[in-house]
This record gives sequence, C-alpha cells and structure tokens, in this order.
Amino acid sequence: MPAKIFYCVRCREKKSVEKYDEIIMRSGMKALKTSCPECGTQMYRIVGKRHLKVKA
Ligand SMILES: [Zn+2]
Repeated sequence: MPAKIFYCVRCREKKSVEKYDEIIMRSGMKALKTSCPECGTQMYRIVGKRHLKVKA
C-alpha cells in the first residue's frame, strides 16, 4: 500500500508509514490506523469526506 503521512502526538512529528489498517470509526467515518514506528503510539488518520479542508 502507498505510504501515508500520520502525525504522532508523542514524537510531535509527521511519520510516513506504509503499513496500516483501514477501520470504520463509531461515527461511520473511515480511518486509517497504525502505530508509530519509533515509539509505538497509536496514530489515526481520518479519510472520510468530513476530513475535507472545510474546518481548516
Ligand atoms: Zn512516535
């Protein structure tokens, strides 16, 4: 799978991760889940439509 950028709140850095799982959150939104390759903290990235830059 193509590498995706995740943000690790513990390292406070963006990480490029190639291995991640696709999950559906309780709200029904699709997200990607992985863990930081350095510290192991779980990282999520929402990929649903609501993630568009509307709120930014
Ligand atoms: Zn980390």
